[in-house]
Amino acid sequence: MGEFDLIERYFKAPARAMNKHSVNGVNGVVLGIGDDCALLQPAAGMQLAVSTDMLVEGRHFLSTVDPYKLGHKALAVNLSDLAACGAKPLAFTLALALPRADEAWLAPFSRGLLALAAEHNCELIGGDTTQGPLNICITVFGEVPGQPSQALLRSGAQAGDDIYVSGTIGDARLALEVFRGNLELPAEAFTQARARMETPTPRVALGLALRGIASAAIDVSDGLLGDLTHILRQSGVGAVIDTSIAINLIAIEAINTPATPQFNLQKQLEYVLAGGDDYELAFTAPAAMRAAVQAAAAASGTKVTCLGQIQAEPGLRLVDGQGQAVPNHYSSFDHFK
Ligand code: ADP
Ligand code: MG
Repeated sequence: MGEFDLIERYFKAPARAMNKHSVNGVNGVVLGIGDDCALLQPAAGMQLAVSTDMLVEGRHFLSTVDPYKLGHKALAVNLSDLAACGAKPLAFTLALALPRADEAWLAPFSRGLLALAAEHNCELIGGDTTQGPLNICITVFGEVPGQPSQALLRSGAQAGDDIYVSGTIGDARLALEVFRGNLELPAEAFTQARARMETPTPRVALGLALRGIASAAIDVSDGLLGDLTHILRQSGVGAVIDTSIAINLIAIEAINTPATPQFNLQKQLEYVLAGGDDYELAFTAPAAMRAAVQAAAAASGTKVTCLGQIQAEPGLRLVDGQGQAVPNHYSSFDHFK
């Protein structure tokens, strides 16, 4: 199978089939795969939101991962960035380096990728395919109302705002620790944690519902405290986080399982605060928006939890349920540290 057969069979033909089912023109795709460029026409008054995320074997995923799930995750992490900006997905491109044209890998990879794309009506409109160490780079295009822009940014948090996180966090890290051989989990808990790590759900509907409500937002990819720090720095503010609320944000209470005597509250809190790979949204909103935040959460079918407040004084402070200071020795993932 040559390069062009590969593109035709696994990407172009299925993308074309998907386009037939979408309402023509709604997602702004004027021209898809096949020419030197794709053409996008954002609707009147809309701004294009653009984001790129790369997945490298051995760094972002294990070589043994199911290719269907990898296809899902490669697009999910990109859609998560659109969600964090309150952007509606339109289309994406795929740059793929493959060690070889392995149909047993390509078929499920493309199915997992395009199934999530169809769910979000986000069309594959182009890319590049080359031989090399496995590397998956996706660029997504979305739209937000412009003039003035309704995009949710990292820079809008203000003193007094509440801090929220969607869904549950820390579970992906649990699965990673099992894969690393540092932890044992009962089979059912491991299946749950593994699904969180391998097939994250991008919070697109929540991001859209938070337009005009959230003051700042980010997706949690490297760990809650580290990602929150980006909001604090870019907004020029500080924050206090209640660890007694945070600790309950892990879905799998590994501490309660007899198989994990080595696990303790300290570790559980570390996974919640610094775990990474959760792809939930962390966001801030004025206290006057509390009812609106809960309505957005309900409308998008996503749980949100308030776990702290923005403060004028820079820095991130952790407290326990009684308001007593808790030392912060949690560090997020950094590729070069
Ligand atoms: P070029 O010569 O301009 O680099 P290519 O021959 O690499 O173009 O690609 C041919 C067409 O197929 C282009 O429209 C390109 O966007 C698309 N394409 C290439 N690889 C992929 C891929 N992995 N997924 C989707 N579209 C792709
Ligand atoms: Mg090319």
